[in-house]
Amino acid sequence: MKLETLLKRIRACRICEAHLPLGPNPVLQAGEHARLLIVGQAPGVKVHDTGIPWNDVSGDRLRAWLAMDRETFYDAQRVAIVPMGFCYPGRGRGGDLPPRPECAPTWHPQIMPLLKEVRLVLLVGQYAQAGYLGKLRRENLTETVRNARDYLPRYLPLPHPSPRNQMWLRRHPWFEQAILPLLRERVAVALADAPVSPAIVSPAPARDRPRR
Ligand code: SF4
Repeated sequence: MKLETLLKRIRACRICEAHLPLGPNPVLQAGEHARLLIVGQAPGVKVHDTGIPWNDVSGDRLRAWLAMDRETFYDAQRVAIVPMGFCYPGRGRGGDLPPRPECAPTWHPQIMPLLKEVRLVLLVGQYAQAGYLGKLRRENLTETVRNARDYLPRYLPLPHPSPRNQMWLRRHPWFEQAILPLLRERVAVALADAPVSPAIVSPAPARDRPRR
C-alpha cells in the first residue's frame, strides 16, 4: 500500500471513537523519504484543536532540544511524527490519559514499513519506549534515557518535554549536558543530505473537524 493511501485510512479511523471525549482526529505526519521519526505519546487538546502535531509548549521545548526550526520540523519528507496514539485520549486525574491501546498495535505495523528511509527514531516518553524498546528498557525512564547511547544507531529515548517534567529536568542536569548534544549530533547525521521538499502530508484542517 502507498503511504498516502494508508494515511487516508488512518484519518478516517474510528476504532476507539467511543472512548474519545473530543471524537477522532488522528494527528500525525509522514513522508516516504523522512529520515527522522518522532514517536511520542498522544495529542493534547491544543494539538487536537489545530490538527498540527507538537503544536504546543511541549513541541516548543522538543524543537529547542532538537535545535530545529518549525519549517524543518513540519517537513514531512524530512521528519515523520507518528505517536503511540493518534487521537486525543481525554483527561484523567493525573493529566492527559495514556494513548489509546488500540492505536499503535493497529497502525504502527502498517506505517513503519513504509518509512524506509528513517535513520533515527526518537522515543519520546514512557509509552514510546515501552512500545519500541520493550525489555531492553532499563529499570525506569531516567535510566533508559541516561543510557541512550546503548540504543543507537536506531533509537534514542527521551523524556517527554511536557512542562509537567520541569522538575525531572532540574533534577537531572546530565540530560542537558550529555544527552542533548548527542541528540543534536545524531539528528544532524540523520538529516544530512535530506532533500528539502514541501510536506506532502499535512493534517486535515482543524475547521473541518468540529469539536464535540
Ligand atoms: S486513537 Fe487511533 S485507533 Fe483510536 S480512533 Fe484515533 S486513529 Fe483510530
